[in-house]
Amino acid sequence: MAKGRLWAALGGLALAWWYLSAHPPKATAAAPGRPLVVLDPGHGGPDPGAVGVTGLLEKEVNLEIAQSAARTLMGRGVGVAMTRTQDSAVRPGPYLVVQDLRERAFLARRVGATILVSIHSNAEPTGTVAGPIVYYRADSPSSQQLAWALTGPLASTVGIYHPPRPAHHLVLMEARVPAVTVEVGFLTQRHDLARLTSSAWRQRLGTAVAQGILAYLGRR
Ligand SMILES: [Zn+2]
Repeated sequence: MAKGRLWAALGGLALAWWYLSAHPPKATAAAPGRPLVVLDPGHGGPDPGAVGVTGLLEKEVNLEIAQSAARTLMGRGVGVAMTRTQDSAVRPGPYLVVQDLRERAFLARRVGATILVSIHSNAEPTGTVAGPIVYYRADSPSSQQLAWALTGPLASTVGIYHPPRPAHHLVLMEARVPAVTVEVGFLTQRHDLARLTSSAWRQRLGTAVAQGILAYLGRR
């Protein structure tokens, strides 16, 4: 019914206005002709993500790597928006994991992102697997291209190569732009854990992530 649709549209507009006024973007907005990269450090606040045997928290590793990548990208004239810039949940209020993930994808759509790159640290039960793995939005050739661009500098920095893998992660699927999850290493593997504990190593990984993004954007 037309009247129902009109009310639904008005409701949607009001909701969008409320949302934008309550949740301003955390960094630079899109400018004409300038790419805008959304960097998404996984977890945060009440959600630590994976935890190393030493007590190292994934959320801290992810954030420092994303911040390092952001600095390099902004230094090269690329716009960057972060889904979080501190140890906090992405959205205020009670923490619900699905809403938290949706919020990250929604931010990418709202700011008009060129691409979305989520940063995570991996875990698996055997403790034997090491090295970075880039997952890409399974239905998106551009996401696959972005994943390959990231895999090169990450593999050469770390010295371990895993080919990119397709995934149906909620954040990637709902972002509606080329989107990848970079798993920077395994908190369950002793050597990866030792390296990811080091701030200098996180800076290097952040640089590698930025190099891959710049290559994808044709700004090598
Ligand atoms: Zn994670």
